[in-house]
Amino acid sequence: MNGKIALALHGGAGPIRNPDTSKEIANLTKLLDEGEVALLAGASALDVVETMIQQLEEAGLYIAGRGSSPNKNGEFELDASIMDGANRRAGSVCALQGIISPISVARAVMEKTPHVMLAGAGARKFALEQGFAEITDTKKHFIPISPKGKNTDDLAHGTVGCVALDNQGRLAAGTSTGGVLNKIPGRVGDTPLIGAGTWADQQVAVSCTGQGEYFIRAAVAVDVSARMTYGGFSIDAAAAGALADMQRQGGDGGLIAIDHQGQVSMPFISHGMRRAALHGDGRREILVFR
Ligand code: ASP
Repeated sequence: MNGKIALALHGGAGPIRNPDTSKEIANLTKLLDEGEVALLAGASALDVVETMIQQLEEAGLYIAGRGSSPNKNGEFELDASIMDGANRRAGSVCALQGIISPISVARAVMEKTPHVMLAGAGARKFALEQGFAEITDTKKHFIPISPKGKNTDDLAHGTVGCVALDNQGRLAAGTSTGGVLNKIPGRVGDTPLIGAGTWADQQVAVSCTGQGEYFIRAAVAVDVSARMTYGGFSIDAAAAGALADMQRQGGDGGLIAIDHQGQVSMPFISHGMRRAALHGDGRREILVFR
């Protein structure tokens, strides 16, 4: 099969007080180009999702990877998950400390263990055993929060995520985050929870961002798929319906989704969402606000 390709990325939804989003736009544009080249060359959706998220983690522009903010104890506890829609395999890590790329550890959990999710010290031990690069100097690795440069609200949340459709018709999704600002040590949001922050099956791939507690209570990512499967809704209607249910619980945020035909949906209920898409019909979008 040599079908359509499609790709979408997000760098978090929420209040965006700094109107200059040129760095994020440039970064998302570059990644969208690289992801397109890889998918056209036949890369799997799963590989592209992992590579895109690794780079988003590394960019330091989002509240994930290097840009993560500390918890109340000043520690950096990171969450990530990845799912392969072709076979519903999934891997996830939560409250992971001291490892450079949480998304790659999540993939290793999927591929190298019989489990789906590893937490805290166990996740870190597994990552080190697997040879994942360790953060040797926390102060140098994480980009410090500048009270002048960034408004606290801006930092409230800002996860990264990616969904992709490859030319074999396979879908994949992944999400990675430093969580929410000032979280209680041990707090885990929706990002590493399969079905809440991340989902992929043969019909749709979804990655969410926003106030994780509400995304968990609405099981947003899998709800998009359920609305399509059982309700016969289009991807746009399913994504909007799942987000509206989350909003009724009191939360805000957004999601990116791609269906098996290469249709992309990127709704959000918040001030902005850093996002980029290559639609199955070739259209490109790189946006922060509406
Ligand atoms: N959903 C993430 C969390 O609650 C935060 C975000 O998307 O910005 O950990």
